[in-house]
Amino acid sequence: MDYKIVIGLEVHVQLLTQTKLFTACTTEFNPDAPNTQTQPLCIALPGTLPVLNRHAYELAVKAALGLNCSIAKFTKWDRKQYFYPDLPKGYQISQYDMPMSFDGWLEVDDADGHKKKIRILRAHLEEDAGKNIHDESGRGEDSKVDLNRAGTPLLEIVSEPDLSSAAEARQYLDELRLIMQYLEVSDCNMQEGSLRCDANVNLHIVQEDGQIAPTPLVEVKNLNSFRNVEAAIDFEVERQLEEFQLTGRKWGDPGVMKETRGFDANRGTTFAQRGKEDAADYRYFPDPDLAPVTMTDEEIDAIRKTMCELPADRRERMRTVYELSDYDREVIMNHSPQLSDYFEETAKISGDGKQAANWVTQDVLRELNDRDLAIDEFPVRPVVLGAMVKKIVDGDLTVKSGREVFAALLETGLSGNSLSPATVDQIIEEKGLAVVKDTGAIEATIKEVLSRDQNAKSVEDLKGGKQQAAGPIIGQVMKEVKGADAKMVREMILKIVQDS
Ligand code: MN
Repeated sequence: MDYKIVIGLEVHVQLLTQTKLFTACTTEFNPDAPNTQTQPLCIALPGTLPVLNRHAYELAVKAALGLNCSIAKFTKWDRKQYFYPDLPKGYQISQYDMPMSFDGWLEVDDADGHKKKIRILRAHLEEDAGKNIHDESGRGEDSKVDLNRAGTPLLEIVSEPDLSSAAEARQYLDELRLIMQYLEVSDCNMQEGSLRCDANVNLHIVQEDGQIAPTPLVEVKNLNSFRNVEAAIDFEVERQLEEFQLTGRKWGDPGVMKETRGFDANRGTTFAQRGKEDAADYRYFPDPDLAPVTMTDEEIDAIRKTMCELPADRRERMRTVYELSDYDREVIMNHSPQLSDYFEETAKISGDGKQAANWVTQDVLRELNDRDLAIDEFPVRPVVLGAMVKKIVDGDLTVKSGREVFAALLETGLSGNSLSPATVDQIIEEKGLAVVKDTGAIEATIKEVLSRDQNAKSVEDLKGGKQQAAGPIIGQVMKEVKGADAKMVREMILKIVQDS
């Protein structure tokens, strides 16, 4: 069957504020002490009134600008009513018909590698609910409610249905996450629920008469990993195809409602939950306790000035300025903005982007993982690593000796000593690792090694043209002159044997 996959994503991102959206209660992630971060407003005590956290609003504007959205000069708050145990007020404060931002976009690569713009319908600010904790032991114990998270600021980002594969959806989420992290508006930590995703999926099936038949729209709720988003989409494609072949039911047919489905990560399947409420069921109306928010051009510009370079621009700069491979660039950029900064400083000091990338993606990342360190805690700072890499670039240190220096630097730094470019020189000096550029000294050593009785056979083989016989001799020479460049030593051995 010929068909097109149509996907729109709704992403909730938790903003990096110290306090909640409408009260000065901490937003710290604290699942081990439920209901301890609950000021009177969070639990909806009578008489409490919300006051807007202006910082949350500014972060939301910054995020929206990063998504190329227009910012509303005037926006208001609405009550979205529904009944659920983790929502003590009986309504969520959200934005209905006047979102704070709209008409944005971000880019992904389509299947042919071309840039494809995914439109963003709107991004609005709202408060989070609490968390229901259901007994999963099967013993039928009570369900519990934790309201620590109630009132935390969320930015809900709604895309147009422009995504046409699970791979594009994944890219959209990766890019969105990078934008939020680089702008420092959210950590997007999925384990802690700072980024949650719902996927709207259906198919446009091309029928024999050429007419397009859209399958009934499905919203898969609460996907808590990017892999689950992809798996849920793949599953829905198969399921909707099968169902269409069986029933022929189309979106728009009488009685066909949007369906909400859950995702079972263990089975990789979705399951029916309920028919979806539409806007009327929520009985939205403007919140009378909150004043509308106005923004002037000057205020929007002031926020725009605080924005760093966006990931798409930085990616392009990494490619052109440092000549990085796509792979190295993605490893560095996807790790964190901090690692990108670390790399760039190292590259600038060493004067060689490719060499710097090798050290950062291999040696530095390996140590971070092994030692469970964040890049900001890593004792070998760019000024030191850059100085060491520069020596390699200048031919004053071999890559192999560089590994030894790097290990020594790390050990010195981890035991609490401060490091500087001078420490690099000191270690090279102490370990005798400087590249010996005195070819006279190397030549003398080679001649001495070649004259050793034990090497008579190797010398014979070399004269007979067996170049691999140079191996053991190179080893012995390198032992004598530690900083020698192995490739140069090899060439000199071959020449000396030939000339003798
Ligand atoms: Mn929402």
